[in-house]
Amino acid sequence: MPDLMEETSFLAGLAAAVSRLAMCEVPGKSAYDDVVQRAYNHFVLRTLVEDDYKTPRSVPEMIEIIADRPVQEWLPGSTSDTILLHGDTRSPTQECTELVVDNRRDPFGEKYENEILKRALTACHEAEAPDSYVAFRRLLITRPTMTHAELMLQRGELDLLPVADLLERCYLGVSPRLRRDGSYAECARCRCLLRPVGKDGWRCDLDRCRTTKVKVRQYLDATTPGGIVQLSLPLRTFVTGPGLFEIDLEVAMNKRGLKVEMWPEYDAYDLLVTFPDNNRWAVDVKDYANPGVLGRTFTGFPSAPPRDRAFLVVPDYRRTANKQYAENFRYSRQSAGRGDSLVVTFQKDFLQQVDQMLASTTTPEGSNA
Ligand SMILES: [Zn+2]
Repeated sequence: MPDLMEETSFLAGLAAAVSRLAMCEVPGKSAYDDVVQRAYNHFVLRTLVEDDYKTPRSVPEMIEIIADRPVQEWLPGSTSDTILLHGDTRSPTQECTELVVDNRRDPFGEKYENEILKRALTACHEAEAPDSYVAFRRLLITRPTMTHAELMLQRGELDLLPVADLLERCYLGVSPRLRRDGSYAECARCRCLLRPVGKDGWRCDLDRCRTTKVKVRQYLDATTPGGIVQLSLPLRTFVTGPGLFEIDLEVAMNKRGLKVEMWPEYDAYDLLVTFPDNNRWAVDVKDYANPGVLGRTFTGFPSAPPRDRAFLVVPDYRRTANKQYAENFRYSRQSAGRGDSLVVTFQKDFLQQVDQMLASTTTPEGSNA
């Protein structure tokens, strides 16, 4: 009987290793670091004992074995259908990044989103500037890529002053591997940099952009003075990705004439929607590929600011990709001993509930004003 905890720990270590390799600016350094070497050693030990599984003779061979294939195909005893690496770009899948963060195996510790967001919150709190936190959050969502000169301009923005020093830790230099013919390409849907595939193809790292054909918004000249910078991968995965859905919801609420506050009271949750009868709905948007990780890690809604209902909203394409998403979430929440009745609500269903609520508050007989 396979030990699930042990497998999870092994996969988290391997996920950290492949993330590390993907972020490595200089792949040709003399030796792989500890994280990669340890993961490789464990991989060899696990596959050596089983004749039906391939044992890699090098780190690149290990990468070839796991790329684009579910864990159960290369790890003896596993039933997991998680894929750690995209086949076309050899870049970590979103599930891979979630595994790293969930298990705190992050080799780049403080760059991860929690630490950065916490520091931003503290800085804005101390400056008594909630609007600065909102401006910072919006910048991370709407401008994941910019020139270094643009980053310097953002540092001087009045709204962003409390977090000015943090910006350079959020935005990092870009790997030359993303360049083709002297240019980088920006994704039209999320504005993150695309990865070159084959002779003239491009792919986006974000799952939300992988559901449709990729489109280039603009090409950025790699020789731009000062260079191009991009948000770190965890920030793109956990802030930009879901953030785009948060802004979609903000737009949808505005269209309906509803009052919306984004990241109220220093990010208590993502949206606070107020209906005409003063009913208040709290919304947190999560775009996790793995509902199990979401169930285990979601800490719930804080009591302030007060609201009448709370929704954990997940983009629709997650349900299309995994019909069991809601059940898996519930199961993992129970297994993790989270004693609440929290469920996930998909985006479309949430909008329907908003419309029903609006209809009941604006018709005379349904009005409870
Ligand atoms: Zn994209």
